[in-house]
Amino acid sequence: MFHKGWSSFRLSHEYFLHENSSIYFQQLDLTLKSDHDEPCSKGVLLIKGMRAVGRPVFFSSFPERAKRKTPMVSRMPDSMKVKDIGEFGLIGRIASALPPLPSHVVVGVGDDVAVLDGLNGDYLLATVDAQVEGVHFRLETTTPYDLGKKVVAINVSDVAAMGGAPLWALVSLILPAGTQVEFVDELYRGMGEEIQRSGGSIVGGNVSKGHSSVAIDFCLLGSVPKDRVLLRRGAEKGDMIMVTGTLGDSRAGLELLIQDHLDVSRENRARVLERHLTPRPRLREGQKLAQLKKVTAMLDVSDGLLGDLQHLCDASGVGAEIHLEKVPVSAACEEVARAAGADPLMWALTGGEDYELLFTVPAHCVEEVQRALFASTGTLCHPVGVVGAGEDGIQLKDKNGKILSPSHGAKGWDHFGSF
Ligand SMILES: [Mg+2]
Repeated sequence: MFHKGWSSFRLSHEYFLHENSSIYFQQLDLTLKSDHDEPCSKGVLLIKGMRAVGRPVFFSSFPERAKRKTPMVSRMPDSMKVKDIGEFGLIGRIASALPPLPSHVVVGVGDDVAVLDGLNGDYLLATVDAQVEGVHFRLETTTPYDLGKKVVAINVSDVAAMGGAPLWALVSLILPAGTQVEFVDELYRGMGEEIQRSGGSIVGGNVSKGHSSVAIDFCLLGSVPKDRVLLRRGAEKGDMIMVTGTLGDSRAGLELLIQDHLDVSRENRARVLERHLTPRPRLREGQKLAQLKKVTAMLDVSDGLLGDLQHLCDASGVGAEIHLEKVPVSAACEEVARAAGADPLMWALTGGEDYELLFTVPAHCVEEVQRALFASTGTLCHPVGVVGAGEDGIQLKDKNGKILSPSHGAKGWDHFGSF
């Protein structure tokens, strides 16, 4: 992995990471060079590219000498693109450049929402998510009404992942001047219905002219009682990893939008298309799980089971073992995958946009949580694996207990890295 000449160079956490960060050096993709491209054990380091499977890499504890002589931005090759560092590398870079946070920020960048100590008795939750034409949706394959519902639902899902309830929303809309007014009417009809269903309200926003594509940026504020907030951090070794509902359905729906001709039953076609086009956030489920006070960590599955589990593991400083035969896949997803010649399990592991809840509970609480969640919401949840030690990373086991190599475990959705 490292240049031969650097074998004696000692890398320590202080050089690259915040305290409390953990990262697997073998998963770093580094090129280390001296000023003159010579292998040497001292001098100025140029970090040419850095990719971490674990939590984002921060630069704020870089040695003072290196900071002074090699400001990262000026030494960054001009050709460096956001796709080179990926969505999560970019988020880590942005987070490291932000000014220090005031004490009323309980959780800043790095969870499903920001958690702020700004309400009497409750935490204020704040999140924002954009849907961009050509990236997240195509106007040929969704209606403005469905699009409006989805824009709201994906933000509500993030609030649900904290155990919270939506309150107020702001919408920033970017439209080409030639957009039909009826499109906006239908978009807001969908947003209005979905925000009303969640118990929140759209209280303002902004409209701006765009050049060639539609973009909808949705900011949602919510609240959660302070003693119920659920974060990505908190999972402990031995906890069971659980997920609500089934995974892979949204990916199956996307496949049908791409390959409309696939031979799939009408019922299953409708089911997976609905999961993709108008996902239902697990709001009541999130609140119930928070109320039970058994859950140790939680987030929603927007990037795929493996991608989001990695986020949870990074935040909690743990590893995980996934038992592949226990990953819940619907008959509808299986039928679409069969018709497409694809593996439904891979869709479940990496597909993304399922907006189910992924959470951890102590092993002795599994049945109690399953019963209580079903009794309260009618929703099933399944154990899919167990939390392990941080140094083990995420391991995938088949039904015979055989560990599959990491190459079998593709990662989840990364906005820039996926292109
Ligand atoms: Mg999320």
